[in-house]
Amino acid sequence: MPELPEVETVKNVLKQIVINHTIKSVDVYRDKTIEGDVNEFKSSLVNETFLSLSRIGKYLIFHISNDKVIISHLRMEGKYYEFLESEPDSKYAKVVFHLDNNHKLCFDDMRCFGILKLTSEKEYKNLPEIAKLGPEPFDINDVTEIYRKAKRINKPIKTALLDQTLTTGLGNIYVDEVLYASKIHPLTPASLLTKEDWNRIINNSKEILNIAIKMGGSTIKSYHPGKDIDGNFQTRIKIYGKSGETCPICKATYRFIKVGGRGTTFCPVCQKRIAKSLSIGVTGKIASGKSEILKEFKSLGYSVISSDEIVKELYEKEEVASKIEKLLKIKFHSSKVDHDVLRNHLLINPGEKRKLEKLIHPLVRKEVESFIKKDKSPLKIVEVPLLFEAHFDDLFDVIIVSDIDSKTQIARLKSRNPDNYEHLLEINKSNKIDLNKKKATYIISNNGDLTNLRKQVKEIVKDLKGYLS
Ligand SMILES: [Zn+2]
Repeated sequence: MPELPEVETVKNVLKQIVINHTIKSVDVYRDKTIEGDVNEFKSSLVNETFLSLSRIGKYLIFHISNDKVIISHLRMEGKYYEFLESEPDSKYAKVVFHLDNNHKLCFDDMRCFGILKLTSEKEYKNLPEIAKLGPEPFDINDVTEIYRKAKRINKPIKTALLDQTLTTGLGNIYVDEVLYASKIHPLTPASLLTKEDWNRIINNSKEILNIAIKMGGSTIKSYHPGKDIDGNFQTRIKIYGKSGETCPICKATYRFIKVGGRGTTFCPVCQKRIAKSLSIGVTGKIASGKSEILKEFKSLGYSVISSDEIVKELYEKEEVASKIEKLLKIKFHSSKVDHDVLRNHLLINPGEKRKLEKLIHPLVRKEVESFIKKDKSPLKIVEVPLLFEAHFDDLFDVIIVSDIDSKTQIARLKSRNPDNYEHLLEINKSNKIDLNKKKATYIISNNGDLTNLRKQVKEIVKDLKGYLS
């Protein structure tokens, strides 16, 4: 979808094509592209001249003789193409303006979301879609007003910026870029941002949008401002669409979440969330000390829950037991899951483990979600051994990976389970911690003793307290 810098580029290219040219006739090939009366649109533009072009947010404003105005929004795929009259229209031309110089301007829109609307100089600024737009970052010199307005908005800052009412012009790409540059987590409630935060957001918005405008926009997939002009901003994109890549500042791996349905990439270390309470996922290999970390959080007074405990409780339920019986075609001979029967079945049929996980993971997820939602503790800690494999990472504001070197791990397993430690190690092979551990906000190195581990947990708590509102 074109964003402000692309629309600015389109405006500048269109100026050269239309200004001082008179419209000879207009063809409309899709009535719905015109908001309002199609016949009026066609007839009242004949013999009128394009005088100038401006832009409000992502709306293009064509100023035409006799105080007429067309507002145009490109939406997903809208484009303008200029052709000679002797050339065919563009492939998805919906509206064609025939000009007095033997050229024509095609509004091309494959996806049909774009609109053109005829209005007047007197009215266009009062149209609801224009009137609701906040000032562009370029027009904000003092953040007091936006800070005051945001105080009343409880939505995540990313959603609030996309809404265009606080400030207009930042779409999905640039919001991710601006929040990363401003070191603000996209889920931070807008109401919790300080004036200082807003200064960073607005200053970074100006800087990033200016660079993008200079480079002609970002050309993600569909944008095409005119013949032979392409945006180059994508070479300057630092975080948008780069989930899984490494942050050059802190070396962590960018994480991906959805915010208000929109794909969002952020750095888990540079962009920590500010909230009244934070959800924390603790994961790590077998024998890496996850439960010790949980114990420490608990002793410091915070709420903790372990997904293994959740599974145990689920296995006590008749409904779950009978689902597993049906799924794996086994019999428990009682109303709850018989652990021995289940373990033996999975030992003989290791391939069935995934089937079982597909049933159990969503149930566990529901319990974790409800814990995070209902519990009143400022820090809510959940231990999830297979956090990344089960795709639970999006549930947590903060992820802690408990890291251990394999020598210490084997020694610990051996002393705990001298008989079957090798089997336990084998089970743990499916744990993808090493691949994912850089998605962590914090890594606890657990090769030392308990005192050392407790010290690290206390340091994390101290740091996180700075992010509690
Ligand atoms: Zn970073």
